[in-house]
Amino acid sequence: MKSQINKMNQVLPQTQCGLCGYAGCFPYAKAITEGASILLCQPGGAQVAQKLKQITGSVELIDQEKMELKRTPVQVVDIDLDECIGCTKCLDVCPTDAIIGSHKMLHRVLEDQCNGCELCTQACPVDCMTMKPIDQSFDAFYAKRGEFKIRFDAKKKRQILQKDDYNRRHAKVKLKQATGDRTLAIRREQIQKWLNDEDK
Ligand code: SF4
Ligand code: SF4
Ligand code: SF4
Repeated sequence: MKSQINKMNQVLPQTQCGLCGYAGCFPYAKAITEGASILLCQPGGAQVAQKLKQITGSVELIDQEKMELKRTPVQVVDIDLDECIGCTKCLDVCPTDAIIGSHKMLHRVLEDQCNGCELCTQACPVDCMTMKPIDQSFDAFYAKRGEFKIRFDAKKKRQILQKDDYNRRHAKVKLKQATGDRTLAIRREQIQKWLNDEDK
């Protein structure tokens, strides 16, 4: 089952846009094995549905014309630099780390890394981001899915490390507040108490 999910994930476009109704490409691949339709990936359209059909042996009919109408165009985001307030909200949600900028600074997009998922436009509080279709074929966009996935996986890994780091630092502060400058023995005792409380 796991290898079938991975196989399906590999043929999905890796934009992580959520237009299929799931939290990303991998969750959608998993949902198909649990009975979800193979026709839900809007960036992938009929081409991707066909690949999913081959992998799963699904009997669902693929209406090429209908899927083409619903298909997301090949696009990238454009930032209105006069309006950007440098809030960094778009950085947090971008699955490919395609936006550069920092707090209270203008943000820019690395167009060749942008997969057109539109997640940043939904996060922007001042509506200064718009999608613009680009002159690139679906095949060329689709060929970049491996790269999009590498960037997405790297971002996820980094976020886990950042969270661990935050938790470690937070634990240190908490320990200092609870024990002040007292002895190591008292600190050990406090940690043991927390561990015991967690076990309950
Ligand atoms: S690219 Fe397709 S499968 Fe991936 S999240 Fe978007 S709609 Fe879902
Ligand atoms: S820049 Fe915006 S549209 Fe492009 S990949 Fe990142 S979140 Fe998606
Ligand atoms: S979310 Fe919008 S306003 Fe905030 S940094 Fe990004 S582009 Fe600028």
